[in-house]
Amino acid sequence: MADDDRLRSVDEHLQNVLDGIGSIDPIELPLLDSQGLLLAENVTTDVPLPGFDNSAMDGYAVRAVDTKNASVSKPLQLPVVGDVVAGARTKSGMGPGLSMRIMTGAPMPAGADAVIPLEETDRGVAKVTITRQVHGGECVRRAGEDLQVGKQAMGAGAAIGPQQIALLAAIGRDRVTVRPRPRVLVLSTGSELVEVGQKPSFGEVSDANSYLIAAAAKDAGADARRIGIVPDDHSQLLDALESQLLRADLLITTGGVSMGAFDIVKQALSELGTVDFMRVAMQPGMPQGFGHLGNRVPIFCLPGNPVSALVSFEVFVRPAIRKLLGKRNLQRATVQAIALETIKSPAGRRQYRRGLLHREAAGGYSVTFVGGAGSHLIASMASSNCLVVIDEDVTEVVAGSRVTVIPLLLSNR
Ligand code: AMP
Ligand code: MG
Repeated sequence: MADDDRLRSVDEHLQNVLDGIGSIDPIELPLLDSQGLLLAENVTTDVPLPGFDNSAMDGYAVRAVDTKNASVSKPLQLPVVGDVVAGARTKSGMGPGLSMRIMTGAPMPAGADAVIPLEETDRGVAKVTITRQVHGGECVRRAGEDLQVGKQAMGAGAAIGPQQIALLAAIGRDRVTVRPRPRVLVLSTGSELVEVGQKPSFGEVSDANSYLIAAAAKDAGADARRIGIVPDDHSQLLDALESQLLRADLLITTGGVSMGAFDIVKQALSELGTVDFMRVAMQPGMPQGFGHLGNRVPIFCLPGNPVSALVSFEVFVRPAIRKLLGKRNLQRATVQAIALETIKSPAGRRQYRRGLLHREAAGGYSVTFVGGAGSHLIASMASSNCLVVIDEDVTEVVAGSRVTVIPLLLSNR
């Protein structure tokens, strides 16, 4: 499709983007690598949890009925006929009127139906003294009481965190089928760009964006890598993208999507006919490109100013990565905060300002603005911890009024 001069709303563009994002085939991964992903199979268990009746305490296994008349005034003495340790591979047994010393997790001996904790006895070795009635089943963990054989342990779509990894390990699954992390490749365009670590000469700029966007994609759950820098050159751009197509579930470029004569990303990719370039009613981030390469791999072409790139990523790319991960909730949570300053906002544009969100001691949040509206302000972006969203129809936020804030929390993945 050719250029669309109409200004699209943020919501319209986001919907268009999400409609163009499919799903990735599930893969099987080693258990620990599944952390943070969604299960793509129904997992049933072929072992019960617990696997066998066992003691919940260090103590003495007894027959409850034998202790019926035990009390402080009429202590009961039972012979101790042996020890049962955790890891005992055979089931022990004891007759009526007897007891066995037992460890936490050790299999209950045949003939015993309860355990009295060590600290409630005299800890005897040959004989143990019991001064209360022990009830049937006391301190016994029953086989299958947590999960029965054949039951579903976890369903497809479940989010896998430490607790779920524990369950999968407990039922013997060392590999699971999951929705994989999308492979995201990031490319910076611009003839002014130099590799980080190479001292920029006059007119040169260190490539911050491929680091920024790779980090943001990783934070969103992707397996993200930098391809590197491509100068403003039509064929070098197409070659670089084409060579990566088989390795990517999603491509992201930055730069070269504005109106300038050297905005070759827009020129080169719009010629292919599968990537659209449009103007979105937002600030920063008005020029946006989105489409598919090789008819398969979605590609985002984000504007080059680092703040524009980050905001565009947050608004459009992060939800797309979450969709690829199979997540149902694509948006970050927002909070309401009291703005501590007055600022202007352009009519008809949704503005995303960098802010510093504070949690008030008395509860609730307040927010101050960091830096100006300029989308080249990397240092002020780095000192912010949130984006303040100012709606299209709002032209001024007055100090003391309520605003919507997107905290940019680290995922800790
Ligand atoms: P563009 O979108 O290509 O017109 O770039 C807009 C502004 O962002 C220019 O000042 C570029 O030098 C700057 N810029 C573009 N790409 C990067 C990058 N990868 N790292 C840092 N600044 C960039
Ligand atoms: Mg450029």
